[in-house]
Amino acid sequence: MPPISKIPNPRYVIERRSRARSAVTAALEGYRAESDSLGAATVIIGVLGPEEKNHLLRLLTDEGDGGVRQQADVALHLAKDPTPSVKKAVASACVAVVRFRAKSNQLLGTSIGPRLWRTASGQGRLKKLGRPSVVNNRKVCQTVRDYLLQHSSYTAKRIKVAGKIVQVRNLKRSRRALWTSSAQMQKLLCLRAWYTHLGKHQSHFKKLKCRSDVCTFCHKYDKVFLPSLRTLLSQSESKMIAHQPDYWKAIQVYWNSLKLQGKTDPDDQCSLQYVRAAIKYMRRMLAARAALPVPDVAGALGARLDFHKDEADAMAALAKANVILECCEHHFSGVKRQHGFREDKVDNLEHHCVDIQLDFMENMTTPLGPEEAQDWFWATARQSITTLGFYAHYWLNGVEHRQYFHFISDILNHDSAFAVQAFGDLLLRLGLSDQHTVLHVFADCGPHFRSYEFLWCLVEVCKSKFPTVFLHFLLEHHGKGRNDGQFGLQRRWAVDYARDHVISDVSDMKGALEAGAMMTMSLDPPPAGPSYHIVVFTPAAKPKFVDKLDNSKTDLQIEYTYCLRIQRHPVPMYVAVIKDFVYSDRSTDEQKGVSIGNVVMKRQPAKEESWRVSYRKTEPEKDNLNVGVLQRRLDHQKHAKLANLAARADPEIVKLARDQRREAKRKAKYL
Ligand SMILES: [Zn+2]
Ligand SMILES: [Zn+2]
Repeated sequence: MPPISKIPNPRYVIERRSRARSAVTAALEGYRAESDSLGAATVIIGVLGPEEKNHLLRLLTDEGDGGVRQQADVALHLAKDPTPSVKKAVASACVAVVRFRAKSNQLLGTSIGPRLWRTASGQGRLKKLGRPSVVNNRKVCQTVRDYLLQHSSYTAKRIKVAGKIVQVRNLKRSRRALWTSSAQMQKLLCLRAWYTHLGKHQSHFKKLKCRSDVCTFCHKYDKVFLPSLRTLLSQSESKMIAHQPDYWKAIQVYWNSLKLQGKTDPDDQCSLQYVRAAIKYMRRMLAARAALPVPDVAGALGARLDFHKDEADAMAALAKANVILECCEHHFSGVKRQHGFREDKVDNLEHHCVDIQLDFMENMTTPLGPEEAQDWFWATARQSITTLGFYAHYWLNGVEHRQYFHFISDILNHDSAFAVQAFGDLLLRLGLSDQHTVLHVFADCGPHFRSYEFLWCLVEVCKSKFPTVFLHFLLEHHGKGRNDGQFGLQRRWAVDYARDHVISDVSDMKGALEAGAMMTMSLDPPPAGPSYHIVVFTPAAKPKFVDKLDNSKTDLQIEYTYCLRIQRHPVPMYVAVIKDFVYSDRSTDEQKGVSIGNVVMKRQPAKEESWRVSYRKTEPEKDNLNVGVLQRRLDHQKHAKLANLAARADPEIVKLARDQRREAKRKAKYL
């Protein structure tokens, strides 16, 4: 159909449109009041311009004998189901007269669909994607299934579909991405049909969620704070330029020269370095202007006052951002320092030192097993297994040992009490000698390790085994590199084994992990490669009492330190001396450690009588950057800060964040 003629004169358009509007409304009302279809049709025809009238009549008379009857059909359409040809005619008339679909629908009290409207205005049909009608036949099912199989991976998870147990497969990409990236699938099904089909007929293909362990501070800094800072900077920039076009010139010159020397933050102006400089600069500009006399021109005083006010507002906003930037910088700096120290220890371990890193793994659930064991799965309730991982690194008789221990257990307490017992057990398993005098323990900031209970456990270890014990904490949300590696392996071992064995309890799990460990070790045999040891750990009954360091007798606040050193006291009467170095890199300088005061044990009745089942808390992601926490840390750790600023985009921190993201992805809960 040819496009309806365009109407060039806007006045004419408005006039005619309003005429049409009132006439159509009147026609509708008239028809409804008197059931006078002929009259209504006449009115409608009456409001059309000669061109549209011809067009409408042409359309109407194309079919049948034309004339009044079809005109009446037009009116009939206003209330009843119209025939397709009338529908088309009405749509064409509306396109010509009313020109807006929504308006036409409103006026006629009916609905002209988007497709019909497009056809009537000569825009051609909407493109239909795929064939929505074909959703379920054997061939489609099979083709889609083959495609999904190609783009998914094995998991040990099972679900019940229509009374049958099926193996869940994890899609490597989202369902949408899988459709958009395949011409074949698009030809087969439109997107809506794709979703429906997958939901109904391929429900065991799932995109399993990754549980992300990425640091919330770094994440929020990137996603929430930086964009807002960018806006703030450009706003304050243009505000000042409006008052004085060359306002920023001097600082630009300065910044560019720094940049040439490679001395600017990789994030350029979105950084503490720039914001600090900008605030200083604005303060100077303000002072310099205030010192000048107001020019003797009408309105000069008002203009200057406005300028001052805008400047003060911008400075206040930047100062706010500056506080956040300082807190975040403190965090980045800490990440860099603790990890730097840790990696250095890993690479250059001295012969008298023992290095241990530990962490809890997310629980695994059993039973796991092959498809044949189907019924059995659903007859048994699922059970969780705790893993506490240790990485131990030391020299013995000139040989470097790297050992991983997987302590698996039914007991689900991820707490200090469990960690303390397991740690004691671990020390007995290491081949240590008297030459080992220094113990370094690296842990994350989880409450299970950063606690006065765990600290006291190390005091006892210091008394009995190592004259010097360090407790290092990796930065909040940035811990456990070595342990994550071993947990990744453990997951893979279990999944592999479950392909043709049933893992129903801890002892099955031990078998599974040992088989996997054997496999892994055969590829890179110890002592050149690391060794893996699986331990079914059944601690003694939960102690009735909790021994912990009595921090009321000390200046220590464990939540604000990343490095504590415990040393055996030369006089046996005293327990030990604990020094707080705040950061691990400061522990090489005796002067930088502060003795926490009297080291005294406090014994308390345990809160819980026995070991229990516990769940890992997941944190909400939607909150803002929690500046309060960072601020408190900065306040407590100010004295230990480095002079150099740490940048978020520092290659080291970027690398750490990337590794962590990758690790988090790998840790996707397949089990
Ligand atoms: Zn972070
Ligand atoms: Zn932890």
